[in-house]
Amino acid sequence: MATRKTYYTECLVHNSPETIEYIGKNIIPEAEKEPLWKKFLEKFKDPIIIILLVVLAFSIFVSLYEILWMGKALTTLIEPAGIFIAILLATGIAFILEVKAEKEFDVLNKVKDERPVKVIRKKNNRIQVYEIRRCDVALGDIVKLESGDEVPADAVLLDASTLRVDESNFTGELYADKFVDIPQEKTDTTFPANMLLRGSTVIDGNCVCRVTAIGVDTEEGKGARLIQEESTVTTPLSRQLDQLGKSISKGSYIIAGLILAGRLLYYFFFDGNPANNADVVSIIEYIIKSIMIAVALIVMAVPEGLPMSITMSLALSMRRMLKEKNLVRKLHACETMGATSVICTDKTGTLTENKMTVLQSEFYVPEDLVIRSIAVNSTASLSEDENGTLKPVGNPTEGALLMWLAKEKGVSYLPYREESLVLDRKNFSSETKFMSTTVPDPDSPGCKLLLLKGAPEVVLGKCSLFPQGVIKEDILASLLAWQSRAMRTLGFAVQRIDANGTAGEMTFAGMVGIADPARSDVKDAIDICRNKAGIRVIMVTGDVSATACEIGRELGILDDINSKETLTGAEFAAMTDDEARSVLPGLKILSRARPEDKARLVTLLQDMNEVVAVTGDGTNDAPALKKAQVGLSMGDGTARAKEASDITIIDNSFSSITKGILWGRSIYLNIKRFILFQLTINVCACLIVLFGSFIGIESPLTVTQMLWVNLIMDTFAAIALSSIPADPNVMNDKPRNQKSHIIDRKMGRNILGIGTLFFIVLAIFWQILWHEDITSMTDLFSDGILKSFITDIFSGHHEDDVLTGYEKGLFFSTFVFLQFWNLFNARFFRTGRSLIKNLLSSLKKNGNPQPLGAGFIIIAMVILVGQFLIVNFLGSAFEVEALSLADWGYILLLTAPVIFLPDLSIAK
Ligand code: ATP
Repeated sequence: MATRKTYYTECLVHNSPETIEYIGKNIIPEAEKEPLWKKFLEKFKDPIIIILLVVLAFSIFVSLYEILWMGKALTTLIEPAGIFIAILLATGIAFILEVKAEKEFDVLNKVKDERPVKVIRKKNNRIQVYEIRRCDVALGDIVKLESGDEVPADAVLLDASTLRVDESNFTGELYADKFVDIPQEKTDTTFPANMLLRGSTVIDGNCVCRVTAIGVDTEEGKGARLIQEESTVTTPLSRQLDQLGKSISKGSYIIAGLILAGRLLYYFFFDGNPANNADVVSIIEYIIKSIMIAVALIVMAVPEGLPMSITMSLALSMRRMLKEKNLVRKLHACETMGATSVICTDKTGTLTENKMTVLQSEFYVPEDLVIRSIAVNSTASLSEDENGTLKPVGNPTEGALLMWLAKEKGVSYLPYREESLVLDRKNFSSETKFMSTTVPDPDSPGCKLLLLKGAPEVVLGKCSLFPQGVIKEDILASLLAWQSRAMRTLGFAVQRIDANGTAGEMTFAGMVGIADPARSDVKDAIDICRNKAGIRVIMVTGDVSATACEIGRELGILDDINSKETLTGAEFAAMTDDEARSVLPGLKILSRARPEDKARLVTLLQDMNEVVAVTGDGTNDAPALKKAQVGLSMGDGTARAKEASDITIIDNSFSSITKGILWGRSIYLNIKRFILFQLTINVCACLIVLFGSFIGIESPLTVTQMLWVNLIMDTFAAIALSSIPADPNVMNDKPRNQKSHIIDRKMGRNILGIGTLFFIVLAIFWQILWHEDITSMTDLFSDGILKSFITDIFSGHHEDDVLTGYEKGLFFSTFVFLQFWNLFNARFFRTGRSLIKNLLSSLKKNGNPQPLGAGFIIIAMVILVGQFLIVNFLGSAFEVEALSLADWGYILLLTAPVIFLPDLSIAK
């Protein structure tokens, strides 16, 4: 670094104890936080909650009136209490989840303030690099940054080598080039090209800069930051759920309006106009009751439990995915994986084993120079394990070269490395595709040697001299032959620099071919993706076309080695967006790609409505990882890549990605199952309430009963359905259409069909209970009951206006048990079998039964026992009376045929 002197001088001038301004802290205080109670009150802005509150007030008023003036029992207060608990549950759960998420976010921010930053400071008359906390960075500090670091404060560049910064938080620019001296063509950027902004990240290169603003004075502090974290993410699922939520809310408001109108019409205009004879209180009471039924129906129909059940589903799956070597960092990624339609994967380490061996070599310079090139111009090393076997540590390509030295040449790299003082070094990056090291020339004192290695075409491009007898065409032919055998190739060159600093000619020194075998499990995984699951796989690699194509052919990404479905990074970069879009549908391999080609590929694919998953391991892959709907970092990747990604694939293997897709799709199916289950209940309950309000009799389902079904049972169902193990069959479907509705046509038919069927059964049962005096389930089988029911129906006779508590208990439990059995149908939805068929297949040898899942069985039992306890022990809260054991047995048996419904075409 030629300018090294400058910043040390800078440091002396600006950073001496007299001038450094240790004023303030480099912290951006959080915006004044709303107190918790205010946040809780926010939840009450929801229209449904407001309606519920109004209803609560009326209900309290009526109950008090009845207790104080009409002498009714204190149990009248149970109804308002039930509504109160429902309100608390609906508001409380969302509130607690939010507060929890925020706390985690706070911790994250605090950790960021503590992160170490390297500064050059003068202390006790010594200038030295110190590591301080980010919050202690002061105005005027000289900061050293390298690839992967986050910029700690606004700063101006003093020295930089090939510096690129991810400024997407401010300007949307993923790869902003930065310069010490701003070039002419870079004068019109939003922020000066020699300025670094707090909160951006160094993607490539390293630099030294002087802090010009800290804390609130930085652009970040002034609020220039564009994007906030997680909360803004819209995923394919969240879009579909929003759509569903809106249509359900609309539908339920209409039905609730109809119910209210129906009941009021009936009350004031029909049936001998009962309003005429009623006193004001009973009129109010009737109106309140009607409003309450309408509201309960809305509460029932709107799936408020859905977001919670989905979070739960994702959280459960997250834990299971970890077992499959997928570390999920962002919850939504679990599901989005399942919506993926294109995977852009890198090659080395993901498709291949990253275990490299030098198979071919050709060198044209003295052996000592070859050894020096490999030993010194390298960051890797070798270590011996307990058995004395040598193992490469660090960069695998360089490790392979050291192993070759040790095994083929019997030479250790260590003495060479120890005797060579590194004067300058440019580390390898996928951007430049070379690495160089300058060391003193051992043969000529005072002279230097520049050792270069890198992608052959890059090295060849820098060479102006070839050793005697070596022809460039022959070199190219050998390279192509190696590449066609899937080898990655590397070229070497040397340059002498004399004592005056005059550089001699760059001389081509030789080349190697390194084999990196494809992972054994990848071929099958790619086959599943391409040929079964309908997911496109595009290999995006830094390697040359010939190598990439051969690996692609071996793994089944490319069907024909000569196909036109490949592009090089340079060809891709030269295309306009429109041209690129026209070739993208057929693209299978993008070779010699730079990280920004990857990011552009992702953007273009997303424009074409694809859901893109991207794998990456390097720091400069971070922008593409962030951009993709699902960013997958590799277990061996850099910390920055992991941070930017949504999921880390711990074992680096492509087949774990396929497992992620399996999980994602299974989660989506489970969410569909839950919606199917919940909406069937909703359709049935709405029809009952609607029917009751139009024929003018009181609904047998009370508000508290509906709340139990809606809030408690649905939550249980959500847990049960989200604990179902992943179903391998989902991998036989094509990726779902992003624009499709979450309820497809068949599912819609299923919901309406079964919901109506349940309603018909319940309506008949209800009529029997209403017309006849039932005191035990066995009454239903007595001789005269059917006859008497039919006569009563025609004569209009009924024993009473309302059902007895006992009859209500029968009805409520029948309602719940119909749903209980239907939960099993939801479980087997889209598996082509029913509970019975599954049980039968478990008896067969090759039946391949699907496990119910322990969680599912437990929850089913909880619902069963819960219903029993509620009716038999908490009856008064639900306005029901205890049932006998025989009644329970009958109800369970008589509702059980529901599990045969999937075998009829209606529930497929
Ligand atoms: P992928 O992007 O799929 O992981 P890759 O690892 O082959 O592919 P890069 O790491 O960008 O891509 O490597 C590109 C080229 O740079 C290689 O083909 C090789 O010629 C050269 N190269 C790789 N590693 C080094 C290194 N450590 N030093 C010098 N050159 C290297």
